[in-house]
Amino acid sequence: MTTILITGTNRGIGLEMAKQALARGWTVYGSARKVVTDPDAHICEHPKFRNLKFDVTDHAAVRAVAASVSEPIDILINNAGSIGPERQSTLDMDFDGFAQTFAINTLAPLAVAQAFLPHLRRSANPRILTVSSRMGSLSHAKSGRIAYRASKAAVNKVMQGLATDLAPMGVAVAMLHPGWVRTDMGGTGADIDAETSAGGILRLAEGLTLEGTGQFYNWDGSLLDW
Ligand code: NAP
Repeated sequence: MTTILITGTNRGIGLEMAKQALARGWTVYGSARKVVTDPDAHICEHPKFRNLKFDVTDHAAVRAVAASVSEPIDILINNAGSIGPERQSTLDMDFDGFAQTFAINTLAPLAVAQAFLPHLRRSANPRILTVSSRMGSLSHAKSGRIAYRASKAAVNKVMQGLATDLAPMGVAVAMLHPGWVRTDMGGTGADIDAETSAGGILRLAEGLTLEGTGQFYNWDGSLLDW
């Protein structure tokens, strides 16, 4: 049976992925820096839910929590992310906020992957997926929320490199765009709901193999341009 670790399961797409993974009968390690609040589904009380507490930017805390987990992990989904600071245009930048956005969206996914690599290597079919964004695509010249865009472009490059380095160890690595999703981040006018996005991401995770490693996917499984 599949064991999955998802970061940022206290709300949004991460919470929905946790619910759907539990419904599939999987064991779910869900990380959050705040208490998971899901009055409808009670994932925290689910017998197959394991609640992990860490801020993804606190690498020492991530490593300490990883050391406390003894089970192999089949799938890691780096989902936790931040849209970044209020002021983030190329002409008016909150540089501390930019650095924090990089810490959350770019550095943390690699730190979490490194910390849990020993658990993944004990799986028969290990996979790492990172929730990126089309806003990071280098083929678009749009400039709004440039700190966020840059952090997602950078995490795609980092994860592409990780895919190259982990292929000989049999670990598949993918980056994905979850769609424009109705969450706190996506807003109420977004294209799809969190259920649809989460379902697509879990299907992608289920089907990911070494053949598809190092690619940038849409939530529906199609390939995206960088
Ligand atoms: P969300 O509703 O704003 O949720 C963000 C999640 O990330 C929350 O659980 C949040 O926890 C967690 N997080 C942020 N900073 C963290 C930190 N330092 N340590 C631990 N957890 C942290 O956003 P979402 O829409 O579900 O987004 C999930 C992912 O999809 C993100 O990577 C986002 O960039 C990406 N994405 C979303 C959209 C969209 O349209 N929604 C589009 C493209 C990409 P707290 O509650 O503690 O802040």
